[in-house]
Amino acid sequence: MEEVGTGLLDRLDAMQRVAASAPGGPLLIVAGPGTGKTRTLTHRIAYLCAELGVFPHRCLAITFTRRAAGELRERLDSLLGDVAEDITVGTFHSVGLAILKENAKAAGLGANWRIADESERAEAREQAGDDDHAYAKLLRQQDLVDLDDLISLPVALLRDDPALVEKYRKHWQWIFVDEYQDVDETQYELLRLLSPSDGNLCAIGDPDQAIYSFRGADVKYFLRFNEDFVDARLVRLTRNYRSSAPIVAAAVQAIAPSSLVNGRRLDPARLDPEAPLVGRYPAASVADEADFVVRTIDDMVGGLSHRSLDSGRVDSRSIAAGNLSFSDIAVLYRTDSQSGAIVEALSRAGVPVQKRSHNRLRDRPGVQLIARELRHAGAGALVTRVKQTAEQLAQRFAAPTLDGEQLAPEDIWTAADLLRPLAERIGDDMPRFLQEIATGAEVDALDPRAEAVNLLTLHAAKGLEFPVVFLVGCEDGLLPLRWPGGSPEPDEIAEERRLFFVGLTRAQDRLYVSHAARRFRHGSEREQSPTPFLDVIDSGLFERLGDTVPSRPKDRQLRLL
Ligand code: ATP
Ligand code: MG
Repeated sequence: MEEVGTGLLDRLDAMQRVAASAPGGPLLIVAGPGTGKTRTLTHRIAYLCAELGVFPHRCLAITFTRRAAGELRERLDSLLGDVAEDITVGTFHSVGLAILKENAKAAGLGANWRIADESERAEAREQAGDDDHAYAKLLRQQDLVDLDDLISLPVALLRDDPALVEKYRKHWQWIFVDEYQDVDETQYELLRLLSPSDGNLCAIGDPDQAIYSFRGADVKYFLRFNEDFVDARLVRLTRNYRSSAPIVAAAVQAIAPSSLVNGRRLDPARLDPEAPLVGRYPAASVADEADFVVRTIDDMVGGLSHRSLDSGRVDSRSIAAGNLSFSDIAVLYRTDSQSGAIVEALSRAGVPVQKRSHNRLRDRPGVQLIARELRHAGAGALVTRVKQTAEQLAQRFAAPTLDGEQLAPEDIWTAADLLRPLAERIGDDMPRFLQEIATGAEVDALDPRAEAVNLLTLHAAKGLEFPVVFLVGCEDGLLPLRWPGGSPEPDEIAEERRLFFVGLTRAQDRLYVSHAARRFRHGSEREQSPTPFLDVIDSGLFERLGDTVPSRPKDRQLRLL
């Protein structure tokens, strides 16, 4: 059997192969960034189907974003060909939707039910006022469901109907979940219902990249996997294939104080002795920082530059002449408001950029923080509690801006003019509000083929990789993020550190960290200090970039693999 399987598993290393070919039963793969989780996951599914006779239609692979699901689907297609079609690959929402479609009547839905759009939901909320059940009723009267219904209705159905549970357990006998550290309570319940505790559930993830607690994800489900699922097998992957050795070393040191993984190891598979150190740029100001990013990009993509800088236009074919293209570069930041200066400087230099749009409520500064505060208030919180929380927050955010410079006037939260309406909008519909924030569709908005520098928040960058990464704004108060009048709790600092870790580990070949000495925040120009997160990294891993133009990488061929 082993010999038959080796062909398919040839492209895996020894531990990846152990994970991919592990027998059935609960399996937890604890794997750090860049260790090939997706590769291992897809190879496991392919191996089970192609070599062990598992029927593809018995397999269910779940991820969190449509983009990730699309990637899984593509890789499975290329490994398995046509039969991959029969594997169910989707997000939690799409799996819930599939179950709901098959059981709409039992769930009390009519023949023409569909998902409510945002305005329909808002209207129902407005009419229902404080009454949570009234809200659901209004939607049902119109044969509508909302996003969290897509998961909670199937959970309710399954909970009440053991025969239905049996039906799905028979149908999907092999379940695979990527990024398991990010499951929230309802998603977890759905999984528990779909998989018996000794079922063939394969969960893969990295507790040190758990960065979504503000929207209800709880890493405890990952950490207690072996209590929930009997005789669970544990496989660790520790070889990082993504990043150069200095980047891996810096990242490992950065996460050490908050690591949730006992005996965390991350060993670089790439050992190029010429690999550049991590560039560290202490900028005088935000403008200087943006300028540094532009100069460095211009320096790296080389010849395209002067003409295009002069004309303000870039011919993408001229970039392609080198091995590095704009889409290989990402600029990452903690809050969206930081992107303005970078976008402006890059655009002025004629460098194309792509950035997810952020005009939705959940993307606006402070909304996530408010969501977290509300969540802390408890699931049973009533309108009064919500309003109280809003009042407290209003006082806390008495400063004219929440988050510094570059905020458009409509983004400025003086906390009376925005928090109260927000509290009203939330009403007693807190779970739905949180779910709205939770859909996390932002990553989907990036087009990986676009020939443009990628601008992303650290949250949106999760799971992605780029040859060149700039992590800007590495300053105390910004990363970790601190709000006026508040000091983050230790668990919040830990989550911020994990975000920093996620950021560092997106880089393949070149990583730059920068911090500005002055920044406009909370209504005034402030002196900023570098983030303490940088202090735990050996100074020998940094190349300090001065106020001169940063040095050009020795070898312009940045793609080392
Ligand atoms: P993250 O935690 O950041 O999501 P990950 O564990 O999902 O990371 P992948 O994105 O799957 O990591 O893999 C990282 C990179 O390493 C990819 O470019 C992948 O192709 C490469 N890689 C993974 N395994 C191997 C291997 N055995 N040999 C060569 N390259 C590999
Ligand atoms: Mg991944």
